[in-house]
Amino acid sequence: MDFSLTPEQEEFKRQVRDFIEEHLSAELRAEVEREQYSIGPLGKKFVRLMGQQGWLGIGWPKEYGGQGRGAIEQWLFLEAMDLENLPTGGLTLSSAGPTLMRVGSEELKREYLPKILSGEIEFAIGYTEPNAGSDLASLQTRATRDGDSYVINGQKIYTSAAHHATHIWLLARTDPQAPKHRGLSIFIVPIDAAGVTIRPLRTMGSERSNEVFFEEVRIPAGNLVGEENQGWYYVAMALDFERLIPHSRTRRQLQNLVDYAKQTMVDGRPLSKHPQVRLALARLAVEVETVRLFSLRSVWMLECGKTPNVEASVLKIFISELSQHIAVAAQDIMGPYAGLRAQDPLAPIEGRLERLYRGFPMYKFAGGTNEVMRNIIAQRGLGMPRG
Ligand SMILES: Cc1cc2nc3c(=O)[nH]c(=O)nc-3n(C[C@H](O)[C@H](O)[C@H](O)COP(=O)(O)OP(=O)(O)OC[C@H]3O[C@@H](n4cnc5c(N)ncnc54)[C@H](O)[C@@H]3O)c2cc1C
Repeated sequence: MDFSLTPEQEEFKRQVRDFIEEHLSAELRAEVEREQYSIGPLGKKFVRLMGQQGWLGIGWPKEYGGQGRGAIEQWLFLEAMDLENLPTGGLTLSSAGPTLMRVGSEELKREYLPKILSGEIEFAIGYTEPNAGSDLASLQTRATRDGDSYVINGQKIYTSAAHHATHIWLLARTDPQAPKHRGLSIFIVPIDAAGVTIRPLRTMGSERSNEVFFEEVRIPAGNLVGEENQGWYYVAMALDFERLIPHSRTRRQLQNLVDYAKQTMVDGRPLSKHPQVRLALARLAVEVETVRLFSLRSVWMLECGKTPNVEASVLKIFISELSQHIAVAAQDIMGPYAGLRAQDPLAPIEGRLERLYRGFPMYKFAGGTNEVMRNIIAQRGLGMPRG
């Protein structure tokens, strides 16, 4: 198998690298470190800059203002950005935007697509509810047609980007009489609409997510995406676009641990000379490389017009479990210091791997749980019956 890139792809990779080097300031680096999966003011500015320079639309068709490039280029872009923990437009660009392109009305497309590409509009994904996560179709949030409007009532949870997004990409029930998958619709709800309340929800790893409450929220009927009661199929389509899963954070996390082992002296010699530490780090390095190659294989399938459905589930499990392996290895290698938080001056590598240790369980939930992913692998990959 030949993994080498074409000269054009090599050139593209160099351009991405140059762009990052030019614009990744020490302040932005500090902010992304602080914010992790949130976006601060500098991160927002950076997204706008990417928008202005055309970096947000690498894979978008030219007719919608994108560059019309292939999956490999998108992957190269994501890999480089994720290595630095930089924002990339998230699911607005990779999932909601492409769905809107296919099923949205001309008015919605005209209004939203250019602003998504310029980084002005960001969606928070409003699917999950307190009693509807893996079993998403049980959701209760209601959208009721009233003349030229829909009126929304209900609650979402884990609406991660709601505190910095401009709109919510909302899945709500429009027909309570229909079978549960058939009565759902997608709406675009401005985050500043009257009746929307956002409450912070801190995860174990200190990341901010949110609860969002909708009380008599009135939006124009034109904000319905596609046809009424087709929301379930549009969500399936949106999830199908989420096949490029950033993987480089595992390399970044491992690098932290490697740096620590090289810099830390124990009994007069660096930890990196300790056989067990070397063995543990080498094992993790094999996993990091495996993830990268498997990710590349999935993206190659996309490039060939195939849907790496099972592969995306494998990757999601592998990446989240690898973060766990790195966090656990850090605890072993750093000993009692491993538990010190960032604000403690004695915290190794600014407490990053302590935070990872608290935070890795969320990777196993966010984007669909690993058990649900395993069900997909069993069913679609191994041809087993539904669980
Ligand atoms: C950090 C974070 C960010 C998130 N961001 C967003 C977001 O922006 N927007 C959004 O809409 N959602 C978001 N989510 C929600 C996420 O998609 C859900 O957490 C996930 O789908 C699981 O739902 P749940 O939390 O209700 O768990 P449940 O579905 O209640 O699952 C509980 C446990 O039961 C297991 N389980 C459930 N069903 C099955 C089954 N059929 N077979 C085997 N095991 C099963 C699960 O694997 C899990 O271990 C986020 C979650 C997290 C943790």
